[in-house]
Amino acid sequence: MFVRPTEDEVMYCDALEKLLRDVAPVARVQSLDNDKAFDFELHGALADVGAWGVGVEAGLGGSGEGPVMQVLTLELLGRNATSMAVFGVIQYMATRLLRQFGSDAQKQQYLADLCAGKLRASFCMTESGGGTDILAAMKTRASRRDGGWRLQGSKHWISGAARADVLIVVARTAEHRSRGITLFIVPAKQPGVTVTELGTFAINGYDTCAVMFDDVALGDDAVLGTVDQGFMQVLGTLNSERLNAAAVASGIGRGAHRLALDYAREREAFGRPIGQFQALQHKLVHAGVDLEAAWTMTVGAARLEEQGHDVSVESAVAKLSASGAGQRAAQLGMEIVGGAAFDLELPMQRYYRDIRLYAFAPLTDDMIANFLGERWLGLPRSY
Ligand SMILES: Cc1cc2nc3c(=O)[nH]c(=O)nc-3n(C[C@H](O)[C@H](O)[C@H](O)COP(=O)(O)OP(=O)(O)OC[C@H]3O[C@@H](n4cnc5c(N)ncnc54)[C@H](O)[C@@H]3O)c2cc1C
Repeated sequence: MFVRPTEDEVMYCDALEKLLRDVAPVARVQSLDNDKAFDFELHGALADVGAWGVGVEAGLGGSGEGPVMQVLTLELLGRNATSMAVFGVIQYMATRLLRQFGSDAQKQQYLADLCAGKLRASFCMTESGGGTDILAAMKTRASRRDGGWRLQGSKHWISGAARADVLIVVARTAEHRSRGITLFIVPAKQPGVTVTELGTFAINGYDTCAVMFDDVALGDDAVLGTVDQGFMQVLGTLNSERLNAAAVASGIGRGAHRLALDYAREREAFGRPIGQFQALQHKLVHAGVDLEAAWTMTVGAARLEEQGHDVSVESAVAKLSASGAGQRAAQLGMEIVGGAAFDLELPMQRYYRDIRLYAFAPLTDDMIANFLGERWLGLPRSY
């Protein structure tokens, strides 16, 4: 409504919507979700239209677009194929890190194939000891040995590791709390790497894993960026990740809202469609307003980022707004669809489960509020 895409953006979104209708109709997405299966066909089709190369220059194998096209892609995926939207957030994080910090050789080796969908990456930062205070929790360590590195430790809650070809691993390399962290590119099949799928209740079409590193031998060419500066490198990508998370949350919320609306138009009680009851209409309107506000802020922040502005505050506001609006819309959707909301053939329960991810990933809403309290409102740091 408030977001007016450019002609190019409209053309791209129309093509993507058609692709999703053709390759990923609701019944198929739902059935793969119920089977906990990744949609390789959709992943390939999205690679063919350049979706995985958005944000990467054409010269490096990408589609040459920026943050706005990324949020448009992820919102559409969130509305339709929620797990693939989460894959998209990880894909864009990996390609951004490689694009910004990779050596020429690393870019050559990985970027074009990631954009083409020939490789998949995972981002391994969180550990079982905690994700929010990750610098305190991080026990995974890379030590200098035999002219290279040895990686030891484990990561938890890692998206997509079971089907990843390459892992970007965040490890401690020195004692300094934040300036003692380095990023490593680790082939998933490297001896010493063990991936175990975890049982989870949501994002069923994309695996979530524990990853062990047992004395994994790495060369200097595995370092992504600068030794001991990895945490700063990750922080540098956080704005985009928040925006991308906001886009998926907006998409999931809008998917739930659309489904609730359709249902309210069709379902009858007391001789009229339930959408005629004012109690339901008002709730649907309020949910729609919340979602529209979140989406407007998300695209607005992405446009500012594309113009080169610092959007650390704007992206955090958008993420907090979209996470809340998405969760409320999914909750309302569950109410309006009633008992059928429990039906595993229908996507409402999937929206309701999947939206939970963006209440705490990549950062919890509490931590985003902490950041905004300090950086936006100018209050003393609370943590
Ligand atoms: C399905 C799934 C996929 C994921 N994918 C990835 C991935 O691909 N890569 C990766 O690295 N990680 C991934 N994660 C991990 C995710 O990023 C973490 O779960 C998240 O960062 C939160 O960490 P935590 O779960 O350890 O919560 P904790 O850090 O233990 O926090 C617990 C609670 O305490 C609150 N809290 C903590 N500190 C404060 C404070 N100072 N003020 C107020 N409240 C506070 C938090 O807000 C939260 O409510 C994934 C997780 C899941 C479940």
